[in-house]
Amino acid sequence: MVRFDTQLIHGVDVKDNDTGAVNPPIYNSSTFAFKSVDDAPRWDYARSGNPTREFLERQIAQLEHGARGFAFASGLAAIHAVLSIFEPGDRIIVGDDVYGGTYSQINEHFHRWGILFDTVNTADLGQVRAAFERVEANGGHAKAIYFEGLTNPLLKVNDVERIAAIAHEHGSLVFVDNTFVTPLNQRPLDLGADLVLHSATKYLAGHSDVIAGLAVVKNEDLGNRIYFALNRLGGILPPLESDLVRRGLQTLSVRLERQQRNALKVARWLESNPLVDAVHYPGLASSPYHDVATRVLNGTGGVLSFEVRQGIDPADVLNNLRIFRLAVSLGAVESLAEYPARMTHFEVPREKRLAFGITDELIRLSIGLENVEDLIDDLDGAFAVAVRNEHAVRSTAVKA
Ligand SMILES: *Cc1c(COP(=O)(O)O)cnc(C)c1O
Repeated sequence: MVRFDTQLIHGVDVKDNDTGAVNPPIYNSSTFAFKSVDDAPRWDYARSGNPTREFLERQIAQLEHGARGFAFASGLAAIHAVLSIFEPGDRIIVGDDVYGGTYSQINEHFHRWGILFDTVNTADLGQVRAAFERVEANGGHAKAIYFEGLTNPLLKVNDVERIAAIAHEHGSLVFVDNTFVTPLNQRPLDLGADLVLHSATKYLAGHSDVIAGLAVVKNEDLGNRIYFALNRLGGILPPLESDLVRRGLQTLSVRLERQQRNALKVARWLESNPLVDAVHYPGLASSPYHDVATRVLNGTGGVLSFEVRQGIDPADVLNNLRIFRLAVSLGAVESLAEYPARMTHFEVPREKRLAFGITDELIRLSIGLENVEDLIDDLDGAFAVAVRNEHAVRSTAVKA
């Protein structure tokens, strides 16, 4: 079998017809004709399956080393389908800092359907073990644990292999959201996970031009349950979008390798900046997650966050960036900056947000493919405005 970078380009054979086209065609057909009533076509109705979506599903299954892949209309549609295999009364252990949309889907949707969730800090293995034991002490049994490989926006590293080992001792399934990590940097199924999920909107598609979700299972039994949810809940990825993700995947490693090289340079520059109090990036030697990252990840990704020092208004920094766009989302060719307290994490009550370490000074960056010196100059220019404004505020205060 060829290596990962070659798989990205050539992993699934394009031998759809004899034109010699190097890319698979996009099939915009909702239905497929039978040759006769006894001779059904390979695909009959495009919600159940179609060749464009299946190409992508085979791509991601191969890259994640799984038995079968599934493409959904969004990351949240994938998570919805996956969690819908459970029943009222089932208990699931969830990472306490999962993606906000996941958190509210669990709390505001699945909770109403009688699924019981226990949250735990998955970066602390002692707490993970205790969570399973607590469920069993109450006569229960956790059906699954759900967490993210790298968390948002503080970039904690979760040790998939060790968490999976604990979960399996307790007969529980292991579901990992691999959005921030990608199969380039870690393949959770090889480390014991039973199912891996992606918001393909982010690194896999990589160009901020499509919303998509993917799931890959380790075995066919789980695959049949996920396929039922895909087809019967109907949150499928359409053909045009499937093709955009297919094309994005081909450049995953060239993009992400540049992004993480740039991210490390930006992180080091921020770390040496007296206007910055803390930088959260596991690629930095000073990060408390550096050792675990070095052990379990091939790379630490292109997202980082930092806290400006007291007195600097983070809005002044964010409003004066010229290259970074002020936007949520991540993992695309262009660099994005955002303010978790007011943008991605505004729904989390302030006290809870602060307890998690998502302070009012925190800024998150998703580093793109631009020249890294330009990105640093951009941050430097925005900091300069923030410092001028700080002085102006102070001198007004003195006059008053
Ligand atoms: C964006 C994101 C999601 C949700 O994906 P959508 O494509 O926006 O529905 C889920 N998990 C993580 C980690 C994400 O970053």
